[in-house]
Amino acid sequence: MPKSLIAHLQNRLQCESGKWRLKMSSRDWVYEKFRTYYGSSNYAFQSPPSLSQREFAFLLFKERAMVRHKAFTNSTAIRSYMRERTPSDVYHSCAYYENPEADMDKKGWIGADLVFDIDADHIPTSCGKIHDEWKCGNPDCLVTGGLTGRGITPEECPACGGVKFETKTWACDQCLETTRNETRKLLDMLMNDLGFSEHEIHTYFSGHRGYHIHVENDAVKSLDTMGRREIVDYVCGIGLDIFDKKKSAPTKSKQKATTIFTLGNFGWKGRLKNGIRKYVKNATKDDLIKAGLSKRIAEIILKNKESIVNRYIDEERWGIIKGIGFETWMRIAEHVKDQEISQIDTVVTSDIHRLIRANGTLHGKTGLLKVEFPVRELDNFDPFAGAVAFKEGTIRVSVSDAPEFKLSGETFGPFKNKKVELPTAAAVLLILKNRAEVVD
Ligand SMILES: [Zn+2]
Ligand SMILES: [Zn+2]
Repeated sequence: MPKSLIAHLQNRLQCESGKWRLKMSSRDWVYEKFRTYYGSSNYAFQSPPSLSQREFAFLLFKERAMVRHKAFTNSTAIRSYMRERTPSDVYHSCAYYENPEADMDKKGWIGADLVFDIDADHIPTSCGKIHDEWKCGNPDCLVTGGLTGRGITPEECPACGGVKFETKTWACDQCLETTRNETRKLLDMLMNDLGFSEHEIHTYFSGHRGYHIHVENDAVKSLDTMGRREIVDYVCGIGLDIFDKKKSAPTKSKQKATTIFTLGNFGWKGRLKNGIRKYVKNATKDDLIKAGLSKRIAEIILKNKESIVNRYIDEERWGIIKGIGFETWMRIAEHVKDQEISQIDTVVTSDIHRLIRANGTLHGKTGLLKVEFPVRELDNFDPFAGAVAFKEGTIRVSVSDAPEFKLSGETFGPFKNKKVELPTAAAVLLILKNRAEVVD
């Protein structure tokens, strides 16, 4: 027998009570946890509306293969399927179809929920630079061993243009706070600008590091891709006319700002008005300079903060203070607009066939659940407590590295090359994040 094979077998076998048996790899251990979770008599699949019109998709844990175009008549049937196949991730279409099992072009699209995905994967955060790493997966990358970097994974490798990456990410309180803030702005627009009521909007923690918002309402159901893009544009402030077209761009150099700038109390105009007021009230000199204003203008603004807020913004008497004209307001308004938009994943919302993670199912990258909570609970809902699935048992693991983290109210780490006994949920999270191994 070749030496390498003997070494391999020794690595995979362990002697227990005089009998040799296969060692359980860490992933197998997590697989068992997922299998037991879905197999438990306490587990009930949480159906989306019109379940039988949805396409279901499963990423199978063992096979690591995606199975799509599945349809079920009721939640018991899905549960049996999940029990049998043990998926690491479960998805359903945001769309409703006549034949959800058919090929894409024969499904017979009836309509779709309006869905939004807000994920730290797409939003620059200062913590991402600390805890997220990527490495180009192209074996022929121009950088030997593959270019590496920190923060958001690029769409293409800057060195070779490759599109495959190995990533090592983490979900921390700051990621959650950032995505929660973007979700808050989105919910405000959906309810106050677009007029959806609280009971038509469903808010979920995604199971990883962000939030999903589903709008289920007859008015949005029939929207085509273009219609959904209009909503995306609104939420992202794309194509927004900050200044009234007719009055914009002063023709004479002496023309006063009075005639070019109107704000209102509704929609984006109201958002800008409140945003500019808040911004001028709180901005420091550095903030103003960062927003693209000159040192001189920044000083004028700081000196006249109060009259700017009272006269300019509240009374709309533009052009009162010398030196602050069209250009300055344009810069401030653009800067405030960038802060007021919600950083949604635009592709998800415009896709009328999109698959979205099913509520109450485990996330294959964390072992946490996608969970729904009431819209008004956004600020109070703690995913690191409310989305924990595995609540029993502990296991000894060897952790390569992990920042400090909290689960179910308990704080763990930071760990660096350490063997430690952890509750199941914490061990599952670290193993799925490639940061720990079960100690045999
Ligand atoms: Zn590369
Ligand atoms: Zn973070």
